[in-house]
Amino acid sequence: MDERLIDGVGLWCERLTSAHASGRPVLFLDRDGVIVEEVGYLARREDVRIVDAAAVAIRRANELGICVVVITNQSGIGRGFFGWDDFDRVQHRISELLALKDAHLDLVVACGYHPDGIGEFCRADHPWRKPNNGMVMAAASCLKADLSCSLMVGDKVIDLEAARASGIGTGILVRTGHGAAEAHTLETRRLEPMKVSICNDASAIGLWLNEIS
Ligand SMILES: [Mg+2]
Repeated sequence: MDERLIDGVGLWCERLTSAHASGRPVLFLDRDGVIVEEVGYLARREDVRIVDAAAVAIRRANELGICVVVITNQSGIGRGFFGWDDFDRVQHRISELLALKDAHLDLVVACGYHPDGIGEFCRADHPWRKPNNGMVMAAASCLKADLSCSLMVGDKVIDLEAARASGIGTGILVRTGHGAAEAHTLETRRLEPMKVSICNDASAIGLWLNEIS
């Protein structure tokens, strides 16, 4: 069995480096619409297109020794549209393209469960699926992260809700991916005491990196 598929079905946790946060902040990133362009159920390596601003921010975090973690719902797996092998190939392509820009991820956490999943992927409200905070807490435990000083960047309100539920101190909703459509929804949600801002793209991560370094 693939040891990255930690429950053998729907929970993926993959260390890409041996880095530890050791009590420092972590940069948490949603994947689709933040690191890569949103294409809808990304399942083919040839469809991977990196968002340049995200690659720049990831490289800067790498340079500062800040761990970079992907936290991604993958309902396409639960719905039977593609499998973990496809997910793995896409992740490999993302790593290849980031490497071309001298950037890398440290940890990837994904959840394939969904209320409309098929067979054993059908879970009404899995604790790992965003807006729940299971993925963030698993990553934080793995890396020994200081969540209150950490940042979550997403293109959906559920990304920020998962962050808020984890005690992450700062959130950014980017307007890439689904972000432009989600921005008005954000105003109706209470996410205090998390500091939340809406930014055009992942380049706003640079300001946070300046603040913590
Ligand atoms: Mg997204």
